[in-house]
Amino acid sequence: MTAKLISGTEVARQIREELTGETARLKERCGVVPGLVTILVGKNPASMSYVAGKQKTAKEIGFHSVQENLPEETTEGELLALIERCNRDEKIHGILVQLPLPRQIDETKVLYAIDPKKDVDGFHPVNVGKMVIGQADYLPCTPAGIQQLLVRSGVKIDGAEVVVVGRSNIVGKPIANILLQKQPGANATVTICHTGTRDMALHTRRADILIVAAGRPNAVTADMVKPGAVVIDVGVNRIGTTPEGKAKLVGDVDFEAVRQKASFITPVPGGVGPMTITMLMANTLKAAQIAAGVR
Ligand code: NAP
Repeated sequence: MTAKLISGTEVARQIREELTGETARLKERCGVVPGLVTILVGKNPASMSYVAGKQKTAKEIGFHSVQENLPEETTEGELLALIERCNRDEKIHGILVQLPLPRQIDETKVLYAIDPKKDVDGFHPVNVGKMVIGQADYLPCTPAGIQQLLVRSGVKIDGAEVVVVGRSNIVGKPIANILLQKQPGANATVTICHTGTRDMALHTRRADILIVAAGRPNAVTADMVKPGAVVIDVGVNRIGTTPEGKAKLVGDVDFEAVRQKASFITPVPGGVGPMTITMLMANTLKAAQIAAGVR
């Protein structure tokens, strides 16, 4: 069996098209344009490129998009003051602070300072709590993107054995929480593996849906996968450069071998990656719709 590829690039394109239509309708009916501010502190090249991608997508969809570039030596107080201004700005519905932040700034304090109604990353404890009790307004973007990839590929999640490798607060824990909710697009039996798991293969081999977010190349090999499983590879690992000088990326799964065993698999790049920015846009539109009282 050779697995079908789940193209995140294609699913993201479909969702962005839907978001563009909904954005135009919101403007027409309510005169509201979704506003997203991206805040970048310093000049980390990877962060600069992520933020540029978010700004570009926001503009393409028709959002009011604002980019705040702060110098590396910005103090915590200065950043908190900017967030407070964005919290009060009625034209801004979503606030994204690009992580990581320079050492002098406490990330937790900054994320807690964002108004939960504008927390389109879904990292504020209020939104994490709402997700856990099944009443989320904003799901964190990468896990929300994984759920969309599964749903839109027609994968049966209801009743499935899902195994998640990784328990980070941004991927592993939230995707496990999302898929175990008694809701459409969820209702799975979920197991989470991590470095304390005694026999990881014992669990992964039972998975109908295997989601891997370990941050290690080859964390999952073909012998750890059940024939016919759906494999979602979240990992992004840089393993040198291509002849054109671009970063060479691989996921956490031994792609070529696992592809021969799985029924569906996401590639890296072009799998989960494009979904993350797209779900950020979906959350920003939702924030604007909630603010306009139409959702
Ligand atoms: P993280 O914070 O480093 O967490 C990794 C998790 O995997 C930890 O819970 C760790 O266990 C577990 N783990 C690591 N090696 C393992 C192994 N050999 N066996 C079992 N568990 C193992 O990473 P993250 O932020 O969740 O990201 C994971 C990967 O996804 C990274 O490659 C990251 O770049 C990528 N990512 C991609 C996107 C995207 O948009 N495509 C978004 C976010 C992240 P312990 O808790 O025991 O240490």
